[in-house]
Amino acid sequence: MTSFSFDLQATDGRARTGVISTPRGDIRTPAFMPVGTAATVKAMMPESVRATGADILLGNTYHLMLRPTAERIDRLGGLHKFMNWDRPILTDSGGFQVMSLAGLRKLTEEGVTFKSHVDGSKHMLSPERSMEIQRLLGSDIVMCFDECPALPADRDRIAASMELSMRWAARSREAFGDRPGHALFGIQQGGLEEDLRAQSAEALREIGFEGYAVGGLAVGEGQEAMFGCLDYAPEQLPQDKPRYLMGVGKPDDIVGAVARGIDMMDCVLPSRSGRTGQVFTRLGVLNIKNARHQDDPRPLDEECTCPACRNYSRAYLHHVFRTQEIISSMLLTWHNLHYYQQIMDQMRHAIAEGRFEAWQTEFTQTRAQGDIDPL
Ligand SMILES: [Zn+2]
Repeated sequence: MTSFSFDLQATDGRARTGVISTPRGDIRTPAFMPVGTAATVKAMMPESVRATGADILLGNTYHLMLRPTAERIDRLGGLHKFMNWDRPILTDSGGFQVMSLAGLRKLTEEGVTFKSHVDGSKHMLSPERSMEIQRLLGSDIVMCFDECPALPADRDRIAASMELSMRWAARSREAFGDRPGHALFGIQQGGLEEDLRAQSAEALREIGFEGYAVGGLAVGEGQEAMFGCLDYAPEQLPQDKPRYLMGVGKPDDIVGAVARGIDMMDCVLPSRSGRTGQVFTRLGVLNIKNARHQDDPRPLDEECTCPACRNYSRAYLHHVFRTQEIISSMLLTWHNLHYYQQIMDQMRHAIAEGRFEAWQTEFTQTRAQGDIDPL
């Protein structure tokens, strides 16, 4: 059986490209992971997600532990079989969503008890329970259970939270055990404090992980502050392991993160926006609900090869969005995911060929144009 490994193939400035090998297939980096919250990327068949170019999906521990439960998914053969996706899956630890979604939380050294946002039932998550759930799901890349304060927060709060997360990281490593072919990623915390980030990175290195995430960003600090942190945080982590920026982001966030040494990202934005009519293209962002599209026979992007752009007009997409037809979510989600994967593919090639900076300049200039002029 192939073990889990990372082959860093080329760097260009701080940007990196490589391949993560797993028994379920390779993940080309930089990689964008579509989010399959409740064992589905909403409005997409798994084979369609694959057709956009995705090598790996993200599943949410918090949602799956509540419904249909990790134990039920395990009895049914694991998450890959359950949702018909045979390629790699990364699961988060549940910690972040407990903090953002659950009611009546109580945080102790042991873990977090909380009430389900679905039915009010009481649950507990700890490093040990999170590792157990992610094992039951059959996740290929497991995330450490951590705690992350919303920003802004004062330094003492950020430091205490980071230190708790490092103790939980050691417990996660212990509970994960020896599972060949599966990976456990540590999560760096420390807010926007460079020295706390360095301490966190050192604590994680000492424990030792197959990959490392930059956690605690994209929580309301804004792009400038996030990029400021990414100017040092990835460099504090081991060079020879994948680096994952959690929960990011808009196309320009993703490109800026790759420019700063990030290898993996995930975000609900392209799929969620597909359901709200927001469309990302080479030229910028458009909203299909606007009346300017109702008589427009042109595609969203004439250079895009996705089914929405090859086979349908803006006028049709506007019509099915306004009439709330299900195909609207299907086509717009497909386009957005396709666009994101196109960016990743272009970046991988640009880095390998040593022209990432020129590619980034062109990406930024093209997107600054905004949408095509109305007819
Ligand atoms: Zn398209």
